[in-house]
Amino acid sequence: MPRHYNFSAGPAALPQPVIEQMRDELLDWNDQGASVMEISHRSEPLLALLKTVEADFRELLGIPDNYRVLFLPGGATAQFSMLPLNLLGDKSSVDYVNGGYWSQKAITEAERYCDVNVVTSLITEQPFHVAPVSEWKLNPDSAYLHYTSNETIEGVQFNNIPDVEIPLVSDFSSEILSREIDVSRFGLIYACAQKNFGIAGITLVIVREDLIHQPSPLLPSIFRYGLQSEKGSLVNTPPTFPIYVTGLVLKWLLGLGGITAIEAVNRRKAEKLYEFIDSDDFYCNPVAPEWRSMMNAVFKLADDSLTADFITQAKAVGLINLKGHRSVGGIRISMYNALPESAIDQLIEFMADFKQSRG
Ligand SMILES: *Cc1c(COP(=O)(O)O)cnc(C)c1O
Repeated sequence: MPRHYNFSAGPAALPQPVIEQMRDELLDWNDQGASVMEISHRSEPLLALLKTVEADFRELLGIPDNYRVLFLPGGATAQFSMLPLNLLGDKSSVDYVNGGYWSQKAITEAERYCDVNVVTSLITEQPFHVAPVSEWKLNPDSAYLHYTSNETIEGVQFNNIPDVEIPLVSDFSSEILSREIDVSRFGLIYACAQKNFGIAGITLVIVREDLIHQPSPLLPSIFRYGLQSEKGSLVNTPPTFPIYVTGLVLKWLLGLGGITAIEAVNRRKAEKLYEFIDSDDFYCNPVAPEWRSMMNAVFKLADDSLTADFITQAKAVGLINLKGHRSVGGIRISMYNALPESAIDQLIEFMADFKQSRG
């Protein structure tokens, strides 16, 4: 049974060489006579692995020295659920962009702890877009401004980093490592692993040192940036296998030539697909071109009654997980780093054939 082209939004496809290496090392990792899952997280090889993973993130993303790199539990949801408890300090309000589904979730969680000032919301009259920063209702007294850099469900992405005075905090879950970013523009970036750098279980947090305040006493130890940083992300047992998988993905990416190389491939994949979608009215994407995501392309068939058949027939030719999120319907094509360009070529060929037979 061959592996299919997998367009899953998350957990998403891993690079084939990474899965092969996992298979080859499963019984005996690093001459331990045991798998990576069966040894202490405080053993020398595991500590060395953690160091390497951090160093590789620093190299790939160009993370400046005044930023700490943490690996925390609970996914992106745990991060946005307790951001205010870590970052409020003596402030009582926070600014949020409501760019879609994931921003809305982050807003709902933050509202438990402080005043949430929504500075702007995604404009959902077509074409979808976000108003320019000059029109946002910013509060200079807020502790930070949060936005979701790539809205995985709506297929909306910020191409530019907003220019604001207060620290920027961003959810990069569905785009981290897909394109060059200037980390120094941010106060904090977080991302779960299962879209673009591994498997569910660890969450990357990159935080500027001066933002690590005395946290709220309500905050559990395992979620305290200061304590986790002091303890090397080892306040408790970390998910060792997900860390190992991340290590393999980062080496794979470095081997390809790093972010510059993968970004060029990602741009080609997205450009081809959007160009094809736009070529006539059979398929339609609702997002303004400058706000379209390079990672998650959404579209509808003009005749929505063909959608189920589209998905079934795609599966029959080895193209899987094309269904849009239940909240928006239609089709979603997730094309993270691990999805090869040939998958997009094949998808476009299928879409052309389907249009021909049904259009
Ligand atoms: C997938 C996703 C999340 C949720 O991540 P979990 O690890 O399931 O908590 C949050 N934000 C964005 C942008 C996502 O794509």
